[in-house]
Amino acid sequence: MLLSVVVPCYNEEEVITATHRRLLEVLGQDATVQLELVYVDDGSRDGTLACLRELQGHDPRVRVVSFSRNFGHQFAVTAGLDHCAGDAVCIIDADLQDPPEVILEMLERWRHGVDVAYGVRTEREGESAFKQWSAKLFYRIINRVSDTPIPLDTGDFRLMDRTAAEAFQAMPERDRFVRGMVAWAGFRQESVPYRRAARFAGTTKYPLRKMLHFAADGILSFSTAPLRLAIYVGLAAAVLAMVGVVYALAMRLATSNWVEGWTLLFIAVLFIGGVQLTFLGVLGEYIGRIYGEVKRRPLYLVKEQLGFEPGGLPQCA
Ligand code: UDP
Ligand code: MG
Repeated sequence: MLLSVVVPCYNEEEVITATHRRLLEVLGQDATVQLELVYVDDGSRDGTLACLRELQGHDPRVRVVSFSRNFGHQFAVTAGLDHCAGDAVCIIDADLQDPPEVILEMLERWRHGVDVAYGVRTEREGESAFKQWSAKLFYRIINRVSDTPIPLDTGDFRLMDRTAAEAFQAMPERDRFVRGMVAWAGFRQESVPYRRAARFAGTTKYPLRKMLHFAADGILSFSTAPLRLAIYVGLAAAVLAMVGVVYALAMRLATSNWVEGWTLLFIAVLFIGGVQLTFLGVLGEYIGRIYGEVKRRPLYLVKEQLGFEPGGLPQCA
């Protein structure tokens, strides 16, 4: 069998060589498994591409796909899946936070007919309390609002059968939330618990800004709950307004103690205005995403690829 390992890399010069060595060490043990390592350089600005070229020069099992700029982690994973030929495909981070030993366990499941074996993080080491807390919260929120159940505390670290990988490839959308898309595809999926280690070296390539964007992509592309929320908040505001109308009319007709001044008016106008603007923004966010989709631009642009045959088909060592 051929096992493809997809590794997205963004500015990972400090870890990539060590990662490569670890992957070969662990996965090379099994003689029945032929290996193909697909490294996707997501527009790195450090020496990552040079490191990858070097690795490729020494080992024909290495393939390198290099983007024209930084397209983002989820696109790097997508490109890796587009460029691999394995009977089974594994996605793993470049920083050794996901231990390669777990892949052996995933392979075992695959051999027993599981189509997708996904890693579930039981513990996370070396990550800030904020990151752990926000991640936990995010997976719980998205799972509540999403129409597709998305496994809790699951990253992109997983092994997929070719059929599942092809199902993923058939999804053309731009807002790519890989773990959700694979969950949506169905097939036989099983979780493999593991301890997420600290980064081997270097710093996280997911600053807060990217994390928020990622979370928004996940929620907006897997749920229309924000739109539904607009209806609920709108209805609640309308009910509140009705109560106000009844009160004001009753006071005006039945007493000489009329509703006075503009305080209430002022509050009501501001409240309704704020709610309307907020949900116009939510609508805009969905419309912006539709606009992005209809442009039908390619998901990513490849500047250079190494280790592939001229026809584009991977060469097997
Ligand atoms: N990554 C990428 N493009 C990006 C950001 C990250 O390809 O724009 C890769 C990165 O090289 C790593 C993986 O995605 O292999 C996960 O990133 P990181 O370890 O920095 O995220 P964290 O584990 O801190 O959430
Ligand atoms: Mg990491």
